[in-house]
Amino acid sequence: MNRRRKSLSRILTALAIAALCLITTRAVIAAVRAATMPPAEALQLLLDGNQRFVAGKLEHPNQTPERRAEVAKGQQPFAAVLACADSRTPPEIIFDRGLGDIFTVRVAGNVADKVVIESLDYSVKHLGVRVLMVLGHRRCGAVIAAVQGHEGTADQDEGPMLSELRPAVTASKGLAGDPVENAVRENVKLVMKNLATSEELSAMVKSGDLKIFGGIYDLDTGAIEMLKN
Ligand SMILES: [Zn+2]
Repeated sequence: MNRRRKSLSRILTALAIAALCLITTRAVIAAVRAATMPPAEALQLLLDGNQRFVAGKLEHPNQTPERRAEVAKGQQPFAAVLACADSRTPPEIIFDRGLGDIFTVRVAGNVADKVVIESLDYSVKHLGVRVLMVLGHRRCGAVIAAVQGHEGTADQDEGPMLSELRPAVTASKGLAGDPVENAVRENVKLVMKNLATSEELSAMVKSGDLKIFGGIYDLDTGAIEMLKN
């Protein structure tokens, strides 16, 4: 009886070690695959897609039933985009991409609160994303509300979203040009900075493993203007 127990225990230990090896091997393979697209290449894919969108020459890549079946097994998006919830700025369309390509987080004013940072962190740490774009857009309703609130021209209580946008409105106050357009730009820059210095992402940004870019989407032309870092 004892011998049987011992041999059963040995078999179970061997099985456990085999399972652990398999899990470790899979984790290594996933990490290697995820790191295969350099940030410059990933950014180029986004920009190329936007050029097709602007030109009206959409290719609709990765939107077939075959692609659906492929990514149902797992996702390895090549980029993450933090965009506004505005119905006119869906990243998959304006970058002409498909299923499993872009890890998208959308919230009014493309602000980065804790939940947003945690979501983006997931795409970086677990899905292998190495390029993150913060995408603001012209005439953003959330930013307009924040500017009006700041000017005292709107009678409203400042909720969490306007509170997130306030630093951008304050920082851009007094600049030449349109206050909303200035605040939109300042907001993208501040959100990029907040992400780059966040507890979750700062180490990877410092090591160069993660690149954060900023862009402004033009509602009229469909083009994305990249902001200088
Ligand atoms: Zn917006």
